[in-house]
Amino acid sequence: MTDLHAEYAPAAPPAQLPRQPLRLSCVVPAYNEQANIEGFLRALAQTVRALTPDFEIVVVNDGSRDATHELSLRLAQELPLRYLALSRNFGKEAALSAGIDHARGNAVLLIDADFQHPLEMLAEMHELWQSGYEMVYGVIADRAAESGAKRMGTQLFYRVMNSGSSVKMPPNAGDFRWMDRKVVDALKALPENNRFMKGLYAWVGFKTVALPFVPKDRAAGSSSFNLRRLGSLALLGLTSFTTLPLRIWSMVGAGISLLALAYGLWIAIEALFFGNPLRGWPTLAASIMLFSGVQLLSIGILGEYIGRIYEEVKRRPIYLVAHDEDRSPLREHEREPS
Ligand code: UDP
Ligand code: MG
Repeated sequence: MTDLHAEYAPAAPPAQLPRQPLRLSCVVPAYNEQANIEGFLRALAQTVRALTPDFEIVVVNDGSRDATHELSLRLAQELPLRYLALSRNFGKEAALSAGIDHARGNAVLLIDADFQHPLEMLAEMHELWQSGYEMVYGVIADRAAESGAKRMGTQLFYRVMNSGSSVKMPPNAGDFRWMDRKVVDALKALPENNRFMKGLYAWVGFKTVALPFVPKDRAAGSSSFNLRRLGSLALLGLTSFTTLPLRIWSMVGAGISLLALAYGLWIAIEALFFGNPLRGWPTLAASIMLFSGVQLLSIGILGEYIGRIYEEVKRRPIYLVAHDEDRSPLREHEREPS
């Protein structure tokens, strides 16, 4: 624990609660992870077994085009798996939603399949949950391994996001988290189709604590998030959680109108009192170009939000499950209150 994210966490740990014995659902999204999935699921099962005998691993195959499907089906024969294959690649946010929707434990762990999230941290997450925290999340403590452009983009994103939204999103917090059933139920109850998970975790609140970690190198394969995909994820986050970009243009518009008014007055005064009626054609041409650009840009931003509304009102499902292999030992707990 650290005070790195103290502003997002309560000052003192909540009072010790008598928690029910842990029944853990580990949600693992997997997209083209054939090189990692087997080793990872075995390592995960081994780590979790040390915490509780009652656990399931919910593997969500997010439309992989490699052998992830066959490997997961085979592993379901020996590990306590709930294996869900989505009908195509819906993206990590949707895959996580699918996992959360199907998890049955009284606590849910979200963890990547590529070994980047250190398994050694699970014991500490468990302890913090047991001491009363409802959400424990990993915070990337060191982004030194990432490119300068990615780091700068990330910084800019969190700055805009947090200045425009009343929900404060802790910077550099990822999807590596341990959540109590209460948090999971709150997340499941959120109705939106555009699921920017990092924002939703912050929106639901609850007693939360941050654990810093240094992500390891990807064990095998490469990240599916290139700059373009990160950019569109950032745009999703901004349009889902802040209307600041819309407001900026009202302010810019108001500012420019005032300036134009003052300039108009000045032209009139110049013509009337100084007899200088015909000048400034270059100013005219330049300002028309500048302001048509500003207008197009602001219409574009408007369009971004309208597009989001359009997607939302269509009410399409967030994901489709094409295959569901249920070997979870938590099946019998399904109807019990947690
Ligand atoms: N992932 C997914 N669907 C996608 C992209 C990624 O389920 O469309 C999974 C991927 O298999 C991994 C996790 O999300 O378990 C993180 O992905 P990745 O390692 O590519 O991203 P990064 O670690 O670079 O953020
Ligand atoms: Mg990764």
